[in-house]
Amino acid sequence: LALTGCSGSGRTADPSASGDAGASAGFAADSTIGVALPDKTSENWVLAGKLFEDGLKEAGFKGDVQYAPASNTVAEQQNQISAMITNGAKVIVIGAKDGKQLGTQLQQAADAGVKIIAYDRLIENTPNVDYYVAFDNFKVGELQGQALLDGLAKRSGHAAPWNVELFSGSPDDANSAVFFDGAMKVLQPKIDDGTLKVVSGQTAIAQTATQGWKAENAQSRMDSLLAANYTSATIDGVLSPNDTLARAIITSVKQAGKDISTFTVTGQDSEVESVKSIMAGEQYSTINKDTSLLVEQTIKMIGQLQKGEDVDVNDTEQYNNGVKVVPAYLLKPVIVTKENAAEAYANNPTLLDIVKAAQ
Ligand code: BGC
Repeated sequence: LALTGCSGSGRTADPSASGDAGASAGFAADSTIGVALPDKTSENWVLAGKLFEDGLKEAGFKGDVQYAPASNTVAEQQNQISAMITNGAKVIVIGAKDGKQLGTQLQQAADAGVKIIAYDRLIENTPNVDYYVAFDNFKVGELQGQALLDGLAKRSGHAAPWNVELFSGSPDDANSAVFFDGAMKVLQPKIDDGTLKVVSGQTAIAQTATQGWKAENAQSRMDSLLAANYTSATIDGVLSPNDTLARAIITSVKQAGKDISTFTVTGQDSEVESVKSIMAGEQYSTINKDTSLLVEQTIKMIGQLQKGEDVDVNDTEQYNNGVKVVPAYLLKPVIVTKENAAEAYANNPTLLDIVKAAQ
């Protein structure tokens, strides 16, 4: 949070001096910042909570970081956000459990002059979301689609056509459709020209959904797909939107007695168990979305709001939430396979150790 005191822009360079400024001209440097995260279905959410606690504190704010419990997440998250507004938060960062169900709370926030940053997942159907900060999710999908094609060519042991199945994430998460659309941009032409055969015929997003991003739901759908379509046919690969689901799919394929070494499955998140699986030659790919960079960027944006400065955005076109295009700061996701893992995790000691131990 370096101060650009010499810029001569006329903005207040001393954060402590901006305490009584109006809503758009910043707020006190030791204000409370709310962070409302969804359930802990993926390691990235767990890590984000810890990084927000530490990072907000270091930046001089009072952080109020909360998770909604898995049992009643939507209602619980709505209550948490309302409470943050009542308790005087100046900015609330939201990783939405259901991005379509926060309209009431965000109206309450707007009325109170609280700025809202949608974190990782877009918040839809409301004008009251100020910024979006995320990895480029459409790009994530494109990288997953391309990785599936690459893996099939490398691992299947035969030329096209390849038999594949498609999985998508939870329908209440706005990201799920974006990942799927990105992947289908790459895969649909290959389905159309016969390179890929979706043996079940299930290519519509609704048919491929994984409610709640839950591993058990992916595993049982994969069990059914295998039983119905692959008793004699070979399954060559699966598009999986994240690591948790990729591992569930691998479990199902193994339990059906199929060969994993010739099977390709994609992922996302660089979860520890999936990085191990990749190094062991099972899961083919994952995506590195470095959570520390995303949290760092978010805290930078909060600092800009605090000082009443312009907030960094680098995309003002892609993320229409149904009411408006939300100004976004998008970071670049990186595809990871066994080949580039050491390079991709060069700044992540935990993952780098796993990669080195396996080499
Ligand atoms: C995130 C993914 C994550 C998924 C399940 C998505 O919104 O972007 O990184 O795998 O949620 O938690």
